Amino acid sequence: MSNRTGGCLCGNIRYEVDGDPVATAVCHCRNCQKQAGSALSIIAVFPRAALTLSGDLKVFEDQGTSGQTVYRQFCPECGSPVLTDTPGAREADIIFIKAGTLDDVSDLKPTTHYWTKSAQPWIPLPGDAELLEQE
Ligand SMILES: [Zn+2]
Ligand SMILES: [Zn+2]
Repeated sequence: MSNRTGGCLCGNIRYEVDGDPVATAVCHCRNCQKQAGSALSIIAVFPRAALTLSGDLKVFEDQGTSGQTVYRQFCPECGSPVLTDTPGAREADIIFIKAGTLDDVSDLKPTTHYWTKSAQPWIPLPGDAELLEQE
């Protein structure tokens, strides 16, 4: 795959990413559930340099369960969560894209599930993915 595009629900935030994700994961932590208003969030990990974004995201400084600061970036107009950033991600030069915002989600294949201990019980967890109770 070459370029992927995505954006928030209202379209004020648009982005493009080059190349394939380094990893794709699902997070079942309670904070992701709350932010998404859903059962989970899908995270595609990309090198920071691969991302070009237009529009102004608002940042909510969250405290991860592990104690790490989590910068949850969302569209101030429609509320779509678009990016997640952490000090660790900055150090590793990667960025987390909330992959549900990609325009084409057909080839997403999460290989790791984080925080399965807070996964909602009606969600089937795939047997061929790495399942981690926490992160
Ligand atoms: Zn929006
Ligand atoms: Zn999470």
